[in-house]
Amino acid sequence: MRGLMKTARGTGNLEIREVDNPRPGVNEVLVEVAAAGICGSDIHIKHDRSFYTPPVILGHEYSGTVVEIGSGVQDIEVGERVVSPATAYCGRCYQCKTGHMNRCTAQGKRILGVSQANGAFAKYLTVPEYIVHKVPEGVSMEEAALAEPTACIVHAVAERTSICPGDTVVVQGPGTMGLLAVQVAKAMGAGKVIVSGVSSDRWRLDVAEKTGADLTLDVQAEADAVEVVREHTGGLGADAVIEASGACVACSQALDFVKVAGHISLVGVRGQPMEIDLDPMIDKELTMTGTWGTLPSSWVTTLRLLSSRKIDVSPLITHRISLDEWEKGFELMETQQAIKVLFADLE
Ligand SMILES: [Zn+2]
Ligand SMILES: [Zn+2]
Repeated sequence: MRGLMKTARGTGNLEIREVDNPRPGVNEVLVEVAAAGICGSDIHIKHDRSFYTPPVILGHEYSGTVVEIGSGVQDIEVGERVVSPATAYCGRCYQCKTGHMNRCTAQGKRILGVSQANGAFAKYLTVPEYIVHKVPEGVSMEEAALAEPTACIVHAVAERTSICPGDTVVVQGPGTMGLLAVQVAKAMGAGKVIVSGVSSDRWRLDVAEKTGADLTLDVQAEADAVEVVREHTGGLGADAVIEASGACVACSQALDFVKVAGHISLVGVRGQPMEIDLDPMIDKELTMTGTWGTLPSSWVTTLRLLSSRKIDVSPLITHRISLDEWEKGFELMETQQAIKVLFADLE
């Protein structure tokens, strides 16, 4: 089969390579990929800006059908439609035993499409049975391919941020993560969701409005964005702010947007140190949380939200491409002309 492989460290070094078809090992299933999304972290790997162990076929946001099962597989059958997190875990280390499987510290841990395991930008991949989740009926394979980023947002917003019914939530950054955060916050009962972005985000802010945002805010065009948030919250500030832009300036703005005793959830990664006045944390008695990846529970909630149509990820799929069009797909993501680009043909 062919796969989009990061062949060596350094910038670039990304190409389609011919490799042997994988076979499922003990307790593994062989999945034929139906759709796979390009993620910001794939862009970082392309530019050698994040962790990975080459050579590795990229791709960790996927859906597919099980075409073969390895020995020892108990609960998954051939023909089952499945998704999974990227990260396998050992179940034995301190982090696993204390419920933080997303931060498992086992040596040589498999991360699909990143480290020690080929990913989904190919016709097939093998996945350990214990991390697989079945796709509920009524959820399309394309929608299911967005289960991974959705589960990350479910972990950050539903599992780790306190949002009460009727709350006003500000989401910073209308990328895939921010737009998913809008829908998850609404599903949790948020009364009003305000999405902020910069002027070049205008078209993505329009998508936010179509997918549940009550108000969008161009922080470059608006003279006083903090004042706008106050106006919409009776002068109090937002109950919760989800920082999904990764911009340094958005962090200090989050401290201004949020109300006394409010909650800031950091989702966007900055990838660089920044200077910030943290005194508002004290003055306003704030809570700030960071989250990384997903827990098994995040997937259960995600698949329920998709199957009940409480959230609809399909408007976020802006482009479908074949494996041969990978350069175009990465370009669309990097230049923010796309929200989610899916490989829909992996032959
Ligand atoms: Zn991702
Ligand atoms: Zn572990």
